[in-house]
Amino acid sequence: MKSYSLLLMMIAWLTMGLAPARATDLAATFNMNDLLHTYNMSCAEQAALRHRNILPEHFHGRPQEFLNPSEALVIYSPALTREERQEAEKLYNSIPKYALPIAWRGGAVYVFTRRGIVEAVPALAIERDWFEDFGLYMEVERRMYVPFEKGEGFDWRNGHMTAKRWVRSARDQFRVINHETGHMIDEMLGAYSYGSLEEDGQYRLSNRPDFQAAIRSDLARLASPRRPIPLARIHKLGYYMPYKFNGVRLGIHDPQRARREVFAELWAEVQGYNLNKLYEAYPDSFKVVKNYADFLKKLDADKPACEFN
Ligand SMILES: [Zn+2]
Repeated sequence: MKSYSLLLMMIAWLTMGLAPARATDLAATFNMNDLLHTYNMSCAEQAALRHRNILPEHFHGRPQEFLNPSEALVIYSPALTREERQEAEKLYNSIPKYALPIAWRGGAVYVFTRRGIVEAVPALAIERDWFEDFGLYMEVERRMYVPFEKGEGFDWRNGHMTAKRWVRSARDQFRVINHETGHMIDEMLGAYSYGSLEEDGQYRLSNRPDFQAAIRSDLARLASPRRPIPLARIHKLGYYMPYKFNGVRLGIHDPQRARREVFAELWAEVQGYNLNKLYEAYPDSFKVVKNYADFLKKLDADKPACEFN
């Protein structure tokens, strides 16, 4: 590393914890050499990079319709009803275009299934959870799953479960797909960020000092008498809260997982999918996530648009 970039990095670290940096200031906290290199690649070079970054199946027995030999960015299950298929295309189109190139090169795949995540990953048909309708960014495969229907009533047969009925999901899937995209961006843009390495060996934006400082300031407010929303609502938002902060019980996750969930949900809210209005609980963290989104948008501007199929 050249010494001037080390100096920039040190200055960046010193200031990162104090106030959220503007998007224009963020460049000093990223490995711009590597990042711009990927943005300036030809479309063929980007496709080759994607090929290298696509992960092999993690769970044995991926069905043929989910193998994706063309390495497309999106897979629509052939089992989707016509209405579900149309909805899936709308969901896919709701992802901001500037989030797609880094997803493409990073080997990400969006997978729309009709019936739970088990439809695409049958090896998981050993737990009821995988018949549910929640979305998921499965890091070990770099695949984002969005199922349309959830299973009900379970039978065990030959060592795996089957569902008796499937019912349409009532979730706001526009929020879901953008939340899962947030997890993917947390990891894929985080890989180019300084100060993003956590003890678990993962590089994530949600580990950065500026995000951690913002979340601590938001949590200190939530745990204090001057909290911006009532404690009952904080507990309802417990999926996006750590167990405790300053001795006050808030939510259901360990601090690192809570940070990741807050990041993903605020990413969705930055795109306008804000059913939970989490930004009211996390105003400082929201600003930081917005800065990352603006930074990514700027990186993508005026770059050659490549076909993703
Ligand atoms: Zn999540």
